[in-house]
This record gives sequence, structure tokens and C-alpha cells, in this order.
Amino acid sequence: MENEKNKDFTTNEKHSKKSGKQSKKNIKHNNKTENKNQNKTQKKQRKQKGFKSKKQGGGKMPKEQTVDMKNNQTAKNKTSGKAEQNKKTNRYGKIKPPVKTNPVKISFLGGLNEVGKNMTVYEYEKSMLIVDCGLAFPESDQLGVDFVIPDFSYVERNADKIKGILITHGHEDHIGALCYLLKKINVPVYATLLTAGLIMGKLSEHKLEKTVDVKVINPGEEIYLGDFNVEFIHVNHSIPGAVALAIKCGAGTIIQTGDFKIDTTPIDGEIINLSRFAELGNEGVLCLLSDSTNAEQPGYTQSESKVGETFQSLFSKAGNRRIIIATFASNIHRVQQIIDIASKTGRKVALSGRSLENVTAIASELGYVHIPEGTLIGIDEIKRYNDEQLVIITTGSQGEAMSALSRMASKNHRKVEIGYNDCVIISARPIPGNEKTVYKVINDLLCLGAQVVYEKMYDVHVSGHACQEELKIMLSLVKPKYFIPVHGEQKHLRYHAKLAESIGIPHNNIIIGDNGYEISVSENNIAVSGTVTHGKVYVDGYGVGDVGTRVMRERQHLGTDGIIIIAATIDAASGELVTGPDIVSKGFVYVKEAELLMNEAVKVSMRVIDSFPPYSFDLNAMNTKLRDEISRLMYERTKRNPMILPILLEV
Ligand SMILES: [Zn+2]
Ligand SMILES: [Zn+2]
Repeated sequence: MENEKNKDFTTNEKHSKKSGKQSKKNIKHNNKTENKNQNKTQKKQRKQKGFKSKKQGGGKMPKEQTVDMKNNQTAKNKTSGKAEQNKKTNRYGKIKPPVKTNPVKISFLGGLNEVGKNMTVYEYEKSMLIVDCGLAFPESDQLGVDFVIPDFSYVERNADKIKGILITHGHEDHIGALCYLLKKINVPVYATLLTAGLIMGKLSEHKLEKTVDVKVINPGEEIYLGDFNVEFIHVNHSIPGAVALAIKCGAGTIIQTGDFKIDTTPIDGEIINLSRFAELGNEGVLCLLSDSTNAEQPGYTQSESKVGETFQSLFSKAGNRRIIIATFASNIHRVQQIIDIASKTGRKVALSGRSLENVTAIASELGYVHIPEGTLIGIDEIKRYNDEQLVIITTGSQGEAMSALSRMASKNHRKVEIGYNDCVIISARPIPGNEKTVYKVINDLLCLGAQVVYEKMYDVHVSGHACQEELKIMLSLVKPKYFIPVHGEQKHLRYHAKLAESIGIPHNNIIIGDNGYEISVSENNIAVSGTVTHGKVYVDGYGVGDVGTRVMRERQHLGTDGIIIIAATIDAASGELVTGPDIVSKGFVYVKEAELLMNEAVKVSMRVIDSFPPYSFDLNAMNTKLRDEISRLMYERTKRNPMILPILLEV
């Protein structure tokens, strides 16, 4: 794999050595030369395979990557122009005899029947691609776990086939596990500019920024990766730079939408490229994998601009109060709207929360956020301004315990003290499972005298995911032969499958998958063709995967029932008790109040130890018997099952 990689990207490596010195160094631009090189060899291969493709798609990429939206526009126009030509050739050209090809295999390592940890693997001929590599936040019974990442053993086994990792957008459930994967297999990562910027931030935290190759791709561009072509298509979502992927191979075109919505008045002015989806639909799409997060919700998702309108009226209602707004750090469009309204109404903006400061800094450096001069102030400077001159944007919209908003609510924030003259706006919806913590924060803020505005009262939040009507639009434009709903729990996937049937996709052409499924798709068939290794790997501090199901069961046991330790020293030769037994209990009962029970436990322990014949005793057997007897005693007396841990030392 190494050799092949080197050969493919020689030009690119040279390019990187020459270019900048900072962290942006490894964000490599897909320059012309590199593509030419790739094209030469790959075009040849493609011809032999009867590959149906728009020629030179990758060759005509802009020399220089800029943030300028105009540039994106040009790239996009080029693509649509080419597609137009292509369509004509199809219409008037010769009818090609059907080529019998192998199926493309799509395997799911995460993201099905769960929210988060999205990761999909595509395999065709000798090439594999990975789409997204996200994390999931732990469930309440996954004690002490920071987050959960997919099991990578399947991709590790196939490392030599993997041509690249494609990232749809910069949310944690799509990029959060990437560094852990890149520590195991080093392959190039392809993403749009902002996503690449966010990835670079993560890479440097993991000290990978010098070894990993991150390539910036504009929406509208197409890249060649082994037996695949991949086109990036602009979509709307709650973070800029989100794309869908059209993955093309000998078996046909597969579209994976990533997370998306259809926003006709987006903050950055770029509406989802619906015409490109329609063109691909007309050319023929074999299979669609589409975002199911909001498949239960009827109608359309509101535009992000709607939130701006609400903010505007809330700002004027706030009068001379200080305004504090909690939102997701990655929702750059929302941060932009807050900054705009603040600057218009003469308020200064301060940011509180590390992730918010980081993301805003990256987004502003890359041109995704425009901050009028003099608007942004440091959180230390808020003392210098009156309440009516301030807006504080903060993290913690999910009630996360250590977040800035939670600290404000519990009077633990060093810089912000909440009082009667504060208006707090929670500009997010609680992610299912977080409701309790969010409402606790709201109640605490109310107790401190603040006014609190949250989603149920005004439109202070809109979703980043498509609702039913938008999902139907996507399905109707793409007109896929086969459909696999992705990103969502079982109920979301089922709703989405029903929607697909309602617009005419036959029931048998839809598969509701699960993590670990390998689905084979070809012109004639779609079927679950096997399973691949998949699973949950817990990340706890520096430990990755060292906390397994057994450790988790122990934590749960300790957490729910506590522990009793029986310590004693035994004469190694005779087996007689030398000291102890001492009984220590943690999280079970308070020993002083349960003195009788503890005395009884001491007696039982002595009886057990005495019951073994002198000079031929078995320490393991003694351990086991102690555990059983004490366990029985505790259950009889308390109907509880604490963990029993005998520690017998031979002296
Ligand atoms: Zn997302
Ligand atoms: Zn997502």
C-alpha cells in the first residue's frame, strides 16, 4: 500500500514540502499536476473496464484553493456544463450493450440503528473507500466513557485496498473517530475546506498533523480513487461545507447524502445543489443512502434564516438586559447571525467555551465567519461594558456538566455571574437523552433570576436535517433503483423506507440495514451478502478499547451495588489465619451503622478459613468459598448483591 500511495501522490508530496509552514501545511490542494498524473494511469484502467465517466472531471480543478464562493461557483458550473454534454452523448450516442459487472459492496461499521458513529465502507474490485468516521456519545449506562468509536478491525484487515477517507462534514458524529483510525491506517483524507480545517485541529491534538495527508476538495469537483470516482455535491446543513457524495464505479453510481436539509434562504447564500442531484438522477443512480434523522417529522425543516428573525425580535425585547445565547459550537451560521445582529444593535460579542472559541477561530480564519471589526471582545473584557452592550455566546446547550452554561447556572463560572438582568436563550434542541440535564440548567438559571428562552417558546432553533417532504424531494430527484436509509434509529430508518415506497421505489429494492451488514448492489440485485466485524470501542481518557464489556459490567456492578473487601493474611504452610479478616465496604452500607452485619461477616469469614484442612489448603478455593458465603450472607440480610473481593495474603 505504501508504494502505491507514494507513486500516486509524489507530486503532491513535493507540493507539500514547498508550501506553508503553519498548521495549514498539510491541507493539500488538489493541484493540476497531481490530477494529471492520476488521470494518466487511471484513465487507461478505466477504458479497459468500460468505465462510464465524465472525462477530465478531476483534471480541471482550480489551481488555487480559495474560500471565495465565486470559485466554488465556477467549479460547479463546469461540472454542470460537462454533465449537460454527457447527457447529450447518452441521448444521441450509440446504445451500449449492457456490461456485466461485479456488485459494489457497502458495509456499515456504524450509524445504523443509532445516532452517531457514522462510518461506511465501499468496496469495488480492488479498491475500498471509507465515508465518514464519527464518534457517538456514551449512553447513561456506559459509565466513565468519554465517547464511543467504531471497531476498525475490518478496515485494518483491508488496509492495502483503502484508497481514501471521504468526509461529508465537520460534525463529531462524522469526524470524531478519524484520528483513532488514522493511527491504525494512514490514508489520505478528502474534505471541503472548513471540514479539513476542523480535522487539522484534531490531528494536531493527536500529533498526527505531519503524517496525515488532508486534501481540500471543492463542492462540484470529482476525484479519482482507485476503481472509484467521487464527486462532491454541496448540501445545506447546520455546519457550512457539508457535501453529499456521488460515488461512481463500474457497478453504477451511489449517492450518499451525508446529513442534509434543503434551505432556500441559507446564511451563506448557497442553496443545496438540487440540479446536480437531478442530473445524476437522469443519468441513472444505482443506489441512494440518505439521512434519516428527521424522517418522522412531516413537512419541511425551517430555514436557518428563521432563527435570525427570532433573534432580532428577542434582541429588541431584551431591552437593557445582557443577552446570553447557548448553541452548538459547530453551528457557524448561527454564530454568524448572532454576531450580525449584535453588531447592528451596538452590542459587543464575547465567546465562552473552548470548543466555541476554537471552531470560531478556524471558521473565521478560513473565511466562513465574518466578524465586523471591534465586535468581538474577550470574556475578560465584559466587565468594562454595561449589560445592554453585551452578548455572550456560550457552549452547553445540551446541559453538559462541564460546559460554560452549566457552570454559569451553578454559579461556578469565573467570569460570568447570572442575575436578574440576564436574558438567556438556549438555541438548540435537547438531543434525546439530554432533556433532564437541559431542564435542570434552565431551572437553575431561572432560580438565579434570569429570563430563559428556549425552543418551546420561540423559534430559537431549527434542525439541520431534512424532514419528510425534503426527503421525498431528494428521492424523486435522484430516482435511485435501490435505497438504503441511513443515519438514524430503527424507527427513523423505517419511516424513511416508507417514504421511499410512497414515491414508487419497490419494497424489495429497499434494505433496512444494521451495523455490521455488508450489502451488495448491482444493476440486477440488492442483497445483504455478509457481515463484517463491527462494534463499540470505548474511549476513556488515554485508553482506547481497554475498557471492554467486562470492565463495563464491573463498573455497573460497583456503581449499583458497591463493594465489600475481605482482607486477611494466612500462614503459607499451615493455612491458619494470621491477621484479619478485616471487612471494608464502599458504596454498600456505612460500616458504623451496620456493625452487626460486619461482625457477622467477620465470623463467617473465619469459619470459612478454618474449614480448610491445615497444610494442604488451596488458596483459590478459599477465595471462591469466601466470596460465595459472604455474598449469600449479604443477600440474606439486605437483599443486595455487592461485589465481594477477598484479598488473602500468604505469609
Ligand atoms: Zn451533521
Ligand atoms: Zn450526523
